[in-house]
Amino acid sequence: MRCKFCGREMMKVVTPFRRPVKGEMMEVKDIEVYRCPGCGATFFPKETIKHIGRKTGERLLKVAKERGRIRDEKEHLRKMREKAVKDIEDAIRNGEIKKREDAPFKIFT
Ligand SMILES: [Zn+2]
Repeated sequence: MRCKFCGREMMKVVTPFRRPVKGEMMEVKDIEVYRCPGCGATFFPKETIKHIGRKTGERLLKVAKERGRIRDEKEHLRKMREKAVKDIEDAIRNGEIKKREDAPFKIFT
């Protein structure tokens, strides 16, 4: 895989991923990314983004439940899915994207 910024060959690295989300420090261990030795750009493969999304979602759900923000987990997940579909439909209507497949994969929502 070549760096889209400087064209050098990127290297696969395994690294922990840390980022604060909604006041919680999210950590996902051992994610695989590609890093450019030239300019330092990082590329997240689709599978890695999915993995981070899944792990982060599970953790946020757990925290929300512990704090009593969610009473019904299934109902909450159903609403989140409906919102994701609606967001994509809105983006298509607004001309931001042309079709569903163009929707950027959101890591944190
Ligand atoms: Zn580069």
